[in-house]
Amino acid sequence: MGSSHHDTHEDQGAGPVIISVSDRHPRSKTIQVVRPESADTTFLAATAKGLGITLKHFAKNLFLPLKKLSGRAKAGAPDPERFKNDIETVQYPEERVIYPERFRGLHRLTKREDDSVRCVACMCCPTVCPANCITIVPEESTDSSIEKRPAIFEIDELRCIACGLCVEACPCDAIRMDTGMHAHPVEDRADAIETLESMLARGIRSVAQQGGQGANWRETAVLPGPEKHTTPKNGPPGSR
Ligand code: SF4
Ligand code: SF4
Repeated sequence: MGSSHHDTHEDQGAGPVIISVSDRHPRSKTIQVVRPESADTTFLAATAKGLGITLKHFAKNLFLPLKKLSGRAKAGAPDPERFKNDIETVQYPEERVIYPERFRGLHRLTKREDDSVRCVACMCCPTVCPANCITIVPEESTDSSIEKRPAIFEIDELRCIACGLCVEACPCDAIRMDTGMHAHPVEDRADAIETLESMLARGIRSVAQQGGQGANWRETAVLPGPEKHTTPKNGPPGSR
C-alpha cells in the first residue's frame, strides 16, 4: 500500500501532525506521535513545584502567629482577632468557630414552673421525626389539668439527623435543640440514647404560655393595629 500524498503543516489545524494520507483510503492517515519530554514523564518538575507550594504555606502558617495583630491582618489572616493563622483548619480546642444562632445542638426538654416536664406526650414529635428515633411511652399525669406526660422519652442520637422537625412540631415548646452542644462521642450504642432524665437535666424553664392565652385570646389580646398585626398563623403571641 503506497502513500503518495504528503501533507505539509500549512493545511493542518491544531490537531495531530499528519505525515501522510493513504491514496486508496483517504481516511487512513499516518500521524506524528508527540512523545512527552522525559522531565514530564518522571513528574519530577511537577513534584518539586507542588512541594514548593506546600512549603510556602507551611512557612506562612508557621511564622504568621509570631506577627503582631496588625501584621496578621495585613498578611491576610481571615479573622486575626480569633485565628492565629490564615489556614482554614481550626486549631481545636484552642480555637472554636462560632456557631450560627440557629445551630441545632443536643436536645433538651423544657420544664414548667414547678420543674415538671412540659411535654404532654402528644406524640407530634415521634410522628413527624423522619429518622424514627424518638420513643415516647405516655402515662397519666398526676396534675388533673394535664392529661398525659411521658413516662419514657428517648431519642437515639445516632439515628437523629438533626433536622429540627421535632422542635417545629411541638405545640408547647417542650423540646428544644438550643443547647449548642454536640452529641457525645460514645463507645456503646446504648450510651447514645438520650433519656427523659438526661434531657431534663439540660432543661430550662420555658417562658411560653402553656396552651396559649385561651380560646378567647382575641378579645383580651392587645393588638398594635390592623396594619401592624403580626399574630402568627399557628397561634397567638406567647402560645409557643
Ligand atoms: S431532629 Fe429530626 S431526626 Fe432528630 S429527633 Fe428531631 S425530628 Fe427526629
Ligand atoms: S411534640 Fe412536644 S409535647 Fe408532643 S410529645 Fe413531642 S415534646 Fe412532647
